[in-house]
Amino acid sequence: MANILVYIDTPAGEEPTKAQRELLALAAALGTPVAAVAAGSADAAAGLGAYGVTTAYTSAGDLDGLLVAGKAAFVAAAARAADAAAVLLPNTGEGKEIAARVGIKLSSGVITDATGIAPDLTVTKPVLAGSYTVAARAVHGIPVVTVKSNSVDPAEPGAGTAHVVELEAGEPGPAARITGTAAKPASGRPALQEARIVVAGGRGVDGDFGPVEELADALGAAVGASRAATDAGWIGHEAQVGQTGTTVSPQLYISAGISGAIQQKAGMQTSTVIVAVNKDEDAPVFEIADFGVVGDLATVLPQAAAEIRRRRGE
Ligand SMILES: Cc1cc2nc3c(=O)[nH]c(=O)nc-3n(C[C@H](O)[C@H](O)[C@H](O)COP(=O)(O)OP(=O)(O)OC[C@H]3O[C@@H](n4cnc5c(N)ncnc54)[C@H](O)[C@@H]3O)c2cc1C
Repeated sequence: MANILVYIDTPAGEEPTKAQRELLALAAALGTPVAAVAAGSADAAAGLGAYGVTTAYTSAGDLDGLLVAGKAAFVAAAARAADAAAVLLPNTGEGKEIAARVGIKLSSGVITDATGIAPDLTVTKPVLAGSYTVAARAVHGIPVVTVKSNSVDPAEPGAGTAHVVELEAGEPGPAARITGTAAKPASGRPALQEARIVVAGGRGVDGDFGPVEELADALGAAVGASRAATDAGWIGHEAQVGQTGTTVSPQLYISAGISGAIQQKAGMQTSTVIVAVNKDEDAPVFEIADFGVVGDLATVLPQAAAEIRRRRGE
């Protein structure tokens, strides 16, 4: 079976994230999973064998000091070493940037925003702000594909140890060097792009994200927002969902006080189930909602949170 290379950027000692386990599951469905592990210990790399990885490539050189150039050179070297038939990366900003550079290094086609890959390596992806789903194929080289979170079920751990191979990634080419970092305060909520549930608020929250956060915490969800809410400064820009924000595809997206503009829909309409809460029954968001509540979010969201807590016996 052909080798399918998965890019893994795992901090030392950590288990692969859910998004990474989804990529590993997809790789196993397409061929033999192999991994390019950009960070962490050799033990952590070997531990990927529990998720079906036969060979885990690690970098001989330090990749941490560079933004993406070093990682791209490493992934390209791993793809060559493994004679990979495809390369899978996360559909994050960094994943897409690495994919673009890997595509150039391997003279290969790059496909972003994938939601599925068939055994013949035909990729399914939404286009035109999610209005259409298309099938795409790389016609040059091997497909370098960034895959959206929550597109497949994550791989579950079993037994096995990956063979660890250290690689010289070679010259990264022009690269930006990181000169300083600062830790972001932890919210305790899941990352927006990986969350199974997202509760998002818009202009309708009128400056108070309290009801949105309360429901999110009752559900163990991430908090998202429309651009109107982030532009107003009610919540950080990292929470923005949409065409110019983060694209999410959770199993449940709860939209509260958001009208449903095309640029907002572009970032969330591939969610499995969409629930909209809006006091205007003609709001466009109801056109794509599976369930709709016409009402004031300041009343509806706390009631929902209270009912969820009650059913949990809290
Ligand atoms: C190039 C470009 C890129 C853009 N990118 C993005 C993007 O990435 N993401 C994004 O979201 N937008 C984006 N936008 C902006 C987008 O066009 C909309 O302006 C924005 O999404 C509107 O945000 P909203 O729905 O929160 O506000 P509004 O459109 O003002 O809607 C507010 C809604 O809240 C409802 N409401 C009010 N009070 C309550 C209440 N108490 N309870 C319940 N409902 C209530 C109202 O009925 C209304 O439907 C972009 C625009 C452009 C031009």
